[in-house]
Amino acid sequence: MEITKHVHLLEAMKGSYVYLILGEEPVLIDTGLKSKFSSLESSLQALGMRFEDIAHIILTHQDVDHIGNAKALKAASKATLWSSVEDKPYIQGERKGTGVRKMIQTLLKVDHPTIDQTFAPGQRIGDLEVIPSPGHTPGHVCLLYHDVLLAGDLVKTSRGKVSPSPNFLASDKEALRRSIREVAKLSFDYICPAHGEPVRGHSLFDLML
Ligand SMILES: [Zn+2]
Repeated sequence: MEITKHVHLLEAMKGSYVYLILGEEPVLIDTGLKSKFSSLESSLQALGMRFEDIAHIILTHQDVDHIGNAKALKAASKATLWSSVEDKPYIQGERKGTGVRKMIQTLLKVDHPTIDQTFAPGQRIGDLEVIPSPGHTPGHVCLLYHDVLLAGDLVKTSRGKVSPSPNFLASDKEALRRSIREVAKLSFDYICPAHGEPVRGHSLFDLML
């Protein structure tokens, strides 16, 4: 589904949505659960895309439902795989999460990819701006594409309402709140989370403050 110009929601990845930005270079935001690899492939095919067309894969954070297909996609595409420097060791499987995250990582095993590039301060990838937003994980990022906030797991949506991602999954609850307040200062109209449907209207985001 095209949310707005160039921004595609891969509906078959429901549960942990993946977005495809078809600007100058095709950019994939997150990669979903490993069990959904064939859904990812057919979603891209439906858009007339092959894996090798993807130029960049950006991981918003380390969680298994976001990095699940990163290794396989990289092998199939030659895309550049991006993450934050803070989440990189977890994505690469060099460090393990704690608490609930450790449990989830044990239940849902992934093939750990090798990160090609980490974000520099003020990083832009094509027309996308990387917005550091720690709290859910130490290196979580959102992405801003014109008037679209690709929110990762900073927030979730349900029945048209936006809410913070749950505290029990936050590596730092206070940092999560701070990040929400900082991101609220940005200019955007569409809010596209991984969990829940995209919604339109900055005011929906402001209701959390
Ligand atoms: Zn997450």
